[in-house]
Amino acid sequence: MTRTVYVNGEYLPEDQAKVSVFDRGFLFADGVYEVTSVLGGKLIDFAGHAKRLQRSLDELQMANPVTEDELLEIHRELVRANGIEEGLVYLQITRGAADRDFAYPKDPVPTIVLFTQSKPGPAENPLARTGMKVISIEDQRWGRRDIKTVQLLYPSMGKMMAKAAGADDAWMVEDGHVTEGTSNNAYIVKGNTIVTRHLGTEILHGITRAAVLRFAREAQMVVEERPFTVAEAKAADEAFITSASAFVMPVVEMDGQPIGSGAPGRVTARLREIYLDEMRKAAV
Ligand code: PMP
Repeated sequence: MTRTVYVNGEYLPEDQAKVSVFDRGFLFADGVYEVTSVLGGKLIDFAGHAKRLQRSLDELQMANPVTEDELLEIHRELVRANGIEEGLVYLQITRGAADRDFAYPKDPVPTIVLFTQSKPGPAENPLARTGMKVISIEDQRWGRRDIKTVQLLYPSMGKMMAKAAGADDAWMVEDGHVTEGTSNNAYIVKGNTIVTRHLGTEILHGITRAAVLRFAREAQMVVEERPFTVAEAKAADEAFITSASAFVMPVVEMDGQPIGSGAPGRVTARLREIYLDEMRKAAV
């Protein structure tokens, strides 16, 4: 079956969808994106993603070509047209096409593209039972990581470094402190306390992070939002990551050293369960 994608107001077969070679997303990475998970044919935390999308656009003075209601409708139509039970919807908005110039063009028409990816069984991912291995690498990204831009080359390089080292992902480190994973937020657990870096320009404000911290506090867990070091991570009882596509995923090894028992921890497993239960209930 040919996938149906959405481009600038039209639903098209993927091989007929086109974007200009002058698009600033292509030339300058002048674009933002969101990834929303689909479970049971429904969208997980759509409202959170729509809100962060608007924030990213505002930070870049980029126009939003759709209302939140229209965006929801497009997401639902793509999920329906492509028969997605489990997977994700990818959304990208760029500043649009213009003659190449570093300065933003005057009144550009934004480009909007959405497509789906089917990914059966994300909630039953076997990594949730075995846990992930990470390596630590220097964080060499730009300074506005709170804006969800399509400028993802360093995270790609990080994933390749992890792969070359026989690991699943890399945690990035700046001034001795972990910022986040290449495509996820990073956490450690010591006793009953969950530690994750505070919000700022150094990390992406994860939508899954917000939900998981809310559920953790509701479950009377202690949450500390502060930077933590690589040494702290290696001495932690548990570690985990969160993202819209991985949900809550245990991390059991860093730089070849086991974290805690070297197996997924109790706090992580509980948070994953609560997150999946609550988000499935609230899915649209
Ligand atoms: N940090 C980075 C750098 C990411 O790329 C992502 C996923 N896009 C996240 C954190 C997690 O964010 P979310 O929970 O909204 O998927």
